[in-house]
Amino acid sequence: MKVVITAGPTREYIDPVRFLSNPSTGKMGFAIAEAAVKAGYEVVLVAGPVSLPTPRGVRRIDVVSARDMYRAVQREIKDATIFIASAAVADWRPKYCAKHKLKKGGMCNILELTRNPDILKSVKAPIKIGFAAETNDVLAEGRRKCREKRLKFIVVNDVTKRGSGFAVDTNEVSFVYASGEVKAFACMSKRKVAATIISAAAKFIA
Ligand code: C5P
Repeated sequence: MKVVITAGPTREYIDPVRFLSNPSTGKMGFAIAEAAVKAGYEVVLVAGPVSLPTPRGVRRIDVVSARDMYRAVQREIKDATIFIASAAVADWRPKYCAKHKLKKGGMCNILELTRNPDILKSVKAPIKIGFAAETNDVLAEGRRKCREKRLKFIVVNDVTKRGSGFAVDTNEVSFVYASGEVKAFACMSKRKVAATIISAAAKFIA
């Protein structure tokens, strides 16, 4: 049974040497990939630019932009049972990417942006699980995203809390289910969060 996982940030280039991105390190997604291998799944990890070693037994596809990630997921998802979207995908990209490095003097002070595809919303898989890093209305936002993206559940965390979110080894999360039910967990290692997600996902397998 195949699991496709996205991890890390995406880079949206302005010119050959500048890009828009975010501080995601990919730790959560890589931990999920490791847990899924341990549970016996065939695992494909679609990773943005991160500096983490590939977990043993995982097939890794490296991508750069949100559109690259979208295309790689579309290719891999057809025979997958579970899709877990832990990547911090850039919602916007520069409308134009300059072929040559922009000169200081030639830069204008307006950067035109355009929307990236929502990978999690657009792909079809029997079991879809998402992530939501929020700063306020954490549960309400989780419920809305779970409905809109047709997820079995969404892993939400309040990134304003210590030991939660980007670039740390721990995470304090809640699972918000499509029914509205919430399961809140104490702060735990990302490895433990990963194992908990994999066993919660397995419960949906018919
Ligand atoms: O709507 P929001 O970006 O907060 O949703 C977060 C969830 O959607 C995460 O699971 C993220 O990986 C996924 N996502 C995606 N493609 C995007 C934006 C978010 O797959 N363009």
